[in-house]
Amino acid sequence: MSRIVIDPELCKACELCISVCPKECIEQSDTLNRYGVYPMRMSDGAECTGCTLCATMCPDTAIEVYRTVADKTRNQEVAT
Ligand code: SF4
Ligand code: SF4
Repeated sequence: MSRIVIDPELCKACELCISVCPKECIEQSDTLNRYGVYPMRMSDGAECTGCTLCATMCPDTAIEVYRTVADKTRNQEVAT
C-alpha cells in the first residue's frame, strides 16, 4: 500500500488535494498550524494508490508520495 506525508506547516488548507484524490484518502486535521488553518492529513484506513495526483496539484509542495513497488524478492518503498 502506498502512502502520503503532508507537511502540516506547509499546508494552507486550500483543499485542492482533497478534490482530486480518487480514493478519498485525505482529510482535515484538528490541529492549527502556523498559518492558523487546519492542515490536511492522510485519513485512517486510506487506500492510497500512489497515483501522485494530490502532490501534483498541491501549490505548496506540501505532499510527498511513497509508492510501494512490488518486487519478486522484496517490497520496496520509494518516494515519488
Ligand atoms: S497519491 Fe493518489 S490515491 Fe494517494 S492520496 Fe494522493 S491522490 Fe489520493
Ligand atoms: S493542496 Fe497542498 S496546500 Fe492545499 S490543502 Fe492540500 S496539502 Fe494543503
